[in-house]
Amino acid sequence: MTLLDGKALSNKVKEEVKVEVAQLIEEKKITPGLAVILVGNDAASATYVGSKAKACKAAGIYSVVHEMPDSITQNELLDIIARMNENPALDGILVQLPLPKHIDTTVVLEAIDPLKDVDGFHPYNVGRLVSNLDTFLPATPFGVMRMFEEYGIELSGKNVCVIGSSDIVGKPMASLLTNAKATVTVCNSRTKDLKAHTTAADVVVVAVGVPHLLKADMLKENAIVIDVGINRLDTGKLTGDADFEDCKDKCSHITPVPGGVGPMTIAMLLKNTLKAAKLREKREHN
Ligand code: NAD
Repeated sequence: MTLLDGKALSNKVKEEVKVEVAQLIEEKKITPGLAVILVGNDAASATYVGSKAKACKAAGIYSVVHEMPDSITQNELLDIIARMNENPALDGILVQLPLPKHIDTTVVLEAIDPLKDVDGFHPYNVGRLVSNLDTFLPATPFGVMRMFEEYGIELSGKNVCVIGSSDIVGKPMASLLTNAKATVTVCNSRTKDLKAHTTAADVVVVAVGVPHLLKADMLKENAIVIDVGINRLDTGKLTGDADFEDCKDKCSHITPVPGGVGPMTIAMLLKNTLKAAKLREKREHN
């Protein structure tokens, strides 16, 4: 069994970004910039935002965190985004989700300039992804694809089962795998016989938010398991959506939690911010 080491790979990606950022600053006098908007005081969101800012700093990317109270109106938030769209120092704009209930997430995401949409959640970029055109790829599935590439896992012709069909993980994951010529089955909470789908799969990507949903008896021999889930148990321990101890001996490859897909997400966000800055450089010099 090969452990897919997201921690090591994320450090490699961050190093790649750091080198390219230094080049962009040196040769083109452009410093990539990322704005992160955090609404309310959700502890988990604040932790994620803090990690993103720290990773930007380490890579040489300028970042600014806009903390807004829960009471902010949708129009006030849209005004802030409009100003960020016009700010040439900001290449990427990211709104930390979830937003409070009185704010329409779709309206907010659609207000971000698609060329600054480093999360890849704007419908324009979602459409480009489905059409297999160059775009900002949502960071988590982008990170999973980089893992496949790094470990030489060929996807063409493989049966892949994606469990979970959210807009931020499951659906873009399924599109990327389809673009890579895999045969993709997407399951959700209404799927009748989950095991029938997973046992037919060469690769299972699980992103549901249910601790230990995926067990060894749901896998074929030598399956590859990508566990996107991050669940905090009552003990405070983090665990995935796959039962790692149960599954590991049946797998050819598996990601641990923590230390698997999680660290890749921030690394790929840095990559997207760098990409946005390079696009700015092209626009300014053409
Ligand atoms: P979500 O709640 O938006 O979507 C969950 C999906 O799983 C839905 O499509 C739902 O129908 C499906 N589902 C739920 N129970 C199921 C079941 N018993 N069988 C089959 N399908 C089921 O969740 P999300 O935002 O996609 O996140 C999923 C998990 O991934 C969470 O644990 C989250 O914390 C984690 N996550 C990790 C990263 C990362 O950086 N590694 C990023 C995003 C999300």
